[in-house]
Amino acid sequence: MIKRALAGLSLAELQNVLQTLPAFRVRQVFHWLARGVSSFEAMTELPVSLRQDLANRFSLYSTIVSQRIEDSDGTVKLQLSLHDHTRIEAVLLSDGAGRKTACLSTQVGCPVACVFCKTGSLGFSRNLSYPEIVEQFLRLSSITDLANIVIMGMGEPLLNLEALCSALVVLTSDLGISRRRITISTSGIVKGIRELADKGPGARLACSLTTADPALRERLMPIARANPLPRLHDALAYYQQKQGQRLTLEAVLLGNLNTRETDAAALGAFVRGLDVVINLIPWNPIPGLCFEGKPLREPRVREVERFSTLLEQQGIPVTRRFRKGASIAGACGQLGVMVSETTA
Ligand code: SF4
Repeated sequence: MIKRALAGLSLAELQNVLQTLPAFRVRQVFHWLARGVSSFEAMTELPVSLRQDLANRFSLYSTIVSQRIEDSDGTVKLQLSLHDHTRIEAVLLSDGAGRKTACLSTQVGCPVACVFCKTGSLGFSRNLSYPEIVEQFLRLSSITDLANIVIMGMGEPLLNLEALCSALVVLTSDLGISRRRITISTSGIVKGIRELADKGPGARLACSLTTADPALRERLMPIARANPLPRLHDALAYYQQKQGQRLTLEAVLLGNLNTRETDAAALGAFVRGLDVVINLIPWNPIPGLCFEGKPLREPRVREVERFSTLLEQQGIPVTRRFRKGASIAGACGQLGVMVSETTA
């Protein structure tokens, strides 16, 4: 029989599961779990008999770290095997100042199928539960202190909204992480953006726009057909009005595809009425990914610089994401490479 895992549960649910224990003992167990403890035996505040009893009845984690690889730039990628033998990936990213960010997955695979994304090419298996989302954070925070969280790993978070919101409650209320340090990245699910605005978790929102040319966007991101740009613009404006935060629009730059002058002009028109920063992300190479029969390619440095200038000339704030973790397939859009290798 599979033992129930305790890591990732909310404090309220842990109290429910361990209802025979006094509240202070449950809080002690929760704090050990939050520290990423590696065994019940290591929970040294607890009496030995209780540690043994917990070990007999429960497991610490529902996942197994089936692979761990590190890049020389500080990126660490974990492949986690879930109880049903599916696999996901969680990534620890390091910026130039040494700040660490956890990139968490919300689904096994992804149903959105953006043509430039490895995860999208894997198809969709299932949604993650909220403890499976929180557990990724606990695994990564046991490696080092984390400054930020991005919900930007495998899957479309707003297609798993209930588990996402429960995970956000654990991360913020139970684990004390500021909502301002959490960014949710969506491919532009209009209904989900509006629901998230109404639920008011207060996390930062990023939207992967890629291009504001409607025809090209529909070819690159099939989800755009059901979530057209005018409705997406209105939903983002609604989020901004409700949550009062600057939004991030992400544009994965694909060589010779969405870096034309007309793309810059379309982006300029799209952002009117929104307070945004545009994050330019040069596409990270993923062997085998094609667009309409032709291999995708990275944009040239010159191409990225020119596109950035075209946006800045329209008064749009722009940031550039420098490549992190590309050599271990831990960079944006590359998650799932290890999963497909190990399931092949
Ligand atoms: S970019 Fe995000 S939404 Fe698109 S297929 Fe990849 S994981 Fe899914």
